[in-house]
Amino acid sequence: MLDGGTPAAPGLGKALLDWYRRCQRPLPWRGERDPYRILLAEVLLQQTRVAQAIPYYRRFLERFPTLEALGRAPLEEVLRVWQGCGYYARARNLHRLAQQTRTLPSTYAGLRKLPGLGPYTAAAVASIAFGEAVAAVDGNVRRVLSRLYAWEDPPPKRLQQLAQGLLEGALGWASPGEWNQALMELGATLCTPRRPACPRCPVERFCRGKGEHDRYPLPKSRRQKPLELTALVLRGPAGVYLEPRPEGALGGLWGVPMAEGPEGLEQLLRRFGLKEARLVGGLRHDFTHRRLQVWVYQAPWEGGEDPKKRPLSRLDQKILALLGAT
Ligand code: SF4
Repeated sequence: MLDGGTPAAPGLGKALLDWYRRCQRPLPWRGERDPYRILLAEVLLQQTRVAQAIPYYRRFLERFPTLEALGRAPLEEVLRVWQGCGYYARARNLHRLAQQTRTLPSTYAGLRKLPGLGPYTAAAVASIAFGEAVAAVDGNVRRVLSRLYAWEDPPPKRLQQLAQGLLEGALGWASPGEWNQALMELGATLCTPRRPACPRCPVERFCRGKGEHDRYPLPKSRRQKPLELTALVLRGPAGVYLEPRPEGALGGLWGVPMAEGPEGLEQLLRRFGLKEARLVGGLRHDFTHRRLQVWVYQAPWEGGEDPKKRPLSRLDQKILALLGAT
């Protein structure tokens, strides 16, 4: 669940689910729980538009109704049924997979071991067919989350963490498969790359990137690498853990523990003897000479103090506001 200035999971999630249940497109694989059929739909949709994928989906299942039937068929026949759909490697991979196994594994980890199944496809099948709580992040979901959270260039690992946190926050009222499909549907129908339909969007009021859809996510050509920082907010009953900033531009001020670079979280966890912390959001901060991308994590803490009693930098104020801690 996300707090404070970050789009809050309960309100956002309920609005998204409510819209999805009312407005989802009636596609032949909707409500499907057969992992083979779900896999086929996902593989088709990777490179084929929905309208074109539907007849292929039907035709393929008519001829190869099960994974076993597909595995028994000669490759030539599989390619003939796929003919016209393009990207034939997909048909070859499906056929190879069907020759290796008659039953698809029921977990994300098991599915990932199969040839040709990347993280997105495995997560989609595991969540939709087997109800495993694993977030499926494809291009649509990346675009939606980048805009919702106003992230120009979210690294894949952070995006996955955020998507996973949102999914887990939604489990009270949505199944993992339904949640994943709702986010994908929003990206496919309203939050489209060029002209998102923000006035009709169910989560418009939570969206920090609306009106700037060209910036979120930023096209590759415009990306300038900011300095990556991790901030760890340790929260206890009395407030948050604060420490004095070292001498220099921020000398005399106080703030939450921070560390630079992609290993920043690991460094902070080690420093405080913690096993894990929860990602609650990311924010941009511009100093005159450099841009920062700050990833904010939170963990419980025994002590802490009232942050209003200490002088804080603007960046620390933003971090604490993100958590609703000021
Ligand atoms: S408000 Fe617009 S930019 Fe934001 S999620 Fe909705 S469609 Fe996308």
